[in-house]
Amino acid sequence: MNADNRWPTADAPADDAPFYARLAERLGALIGAQDYDTVLVPGEAIVALEAVARETGANRLRVLNVATSTYGALFGQWIEEEGGSVTTIAPATPGQPIPVTTVADELAKGYDALAFVHGEAATAIVNPIREILTVAQGLGIATIIDAVASVGAEPLDLAGPDAADIVVLGPQKALAGPAGISAVSLSTRGWELLARRRGRVASFSSVSLLDIRRDWLDAGKVKIPGTPAPHELWALDAALHAVEHEQISAVVRRHRRAAAAARAGVSGLGLHLWVERIEESSGLLTAALLPHDVDPDAVINLAHTQFGVTLTHAPEGIDGRLIKLPHTGRQAQFAAVVATVAGLGGALRTAGHTADVAAGVDAVVAAYADDANRDADPG
Ligand SMILES: *Cc1c(COP(=O)(O)O)cnc(C)c1O
Repeated sequence: MNADNRWPTADAPADDAPFYARLAERLGALIGAQDYDTVLVPGEAIVALEAVARETGANRLRVLNVATSTYGALFGQWIEEEGGSVTTIAPATPGQPIPVTTVADELAKGYDALAFVHGEAATAIVNPIREILTVAQGLGIATIIDAVASVGAEPLDLAGPDAADIVVLGPQKALAGPAGISAVSLSTRGWELLARRRGRVASFSSVSLLDIRRDWLDAGKVKIPGTPAPHELWALDAALHAVEHEQISAVVRRHRRAAAAARAGVSGLGLHLWVERIEESSGLLTAALLPHDVDPDAVINLAHTQFGVTLTHAPEGIDGRLIKLPHTGRQAQFAAVVATVAGLGGALRTAGHTADVAAGVDAVVAAYADDANRDADPG
């Protein structure tokens, strides 16, 4: 504790309401949400997702829900529990991106809203957001996007081609921020998708966007509803400072470059990539497919114990040969990518398989050496 009896990260900011309001605005600014309301939700991003889903469901809308991972599946279940009518679609191969034609064919049957995850950390894919939004906008259908795993990792511009109606954000992935606070950006039509849950009597709910609007936005942002954890606010402030200093376009470019380099490295090792095209490949992680004769657990363990490299499995229900190489947040840089690719190659060799480690490393170096690398440039 310092001389004026303050504990730097445990105490709330002195002018907490303006500080809180600015945090939300700064997050929104990263995705071009200046014309939206962006509100903080004091809880991890899944809390914000549930808040959106429950109040959308309470409006009894017909919602087309795209499930490219557990998050999408849960989102549909919450809507349905509240009385919404949900149709859930998924790609033919679990864990792959959803083809835009699948969405377009289903949307044509008539819906009020479409919900999908933009970038998937679970499967390392990116859904074709611009093509999907073009179809939805053409039909006048409102859109809800889980952008927790895409903000900072993929180009996302609500003021431009990615204008959606409700967008859920989390600072803990590409933005290298805290996991205990999240945000939602809503357009006017986004607010209109929400309704109060039937039978609710309590007020001041942190999982009600309508409560947050009434108690915070409509009340003039004078008093924060509830008591958000000061650690989370300070950590979000610090993460935003770092992102603002680097600039969001550079953060995205850094993630896209890491993805391009990791993909090149995986191919160099002699492994197959989970998704064919770089545009479908997450900026947060790269997924490779191990050959049939390789035990993924053995490779993950050896990568960790022998090389200090963390690789992860596919989630349940996805091809068990899928293995993920992380390059999220501060790990989206050359040193981490080259070590991860080399560590994967080393683990494969140690387990008695072939891997062209030299070619893998060479490909990562080449990707970073090539300033004009078009794949790394989000445009
Ligand atoms: C990580 C992630 C979330 C948020 O998960 P929490 O860990 O609960 O904050 C939501 N959606 C997607 C697609 C994610 O990858």
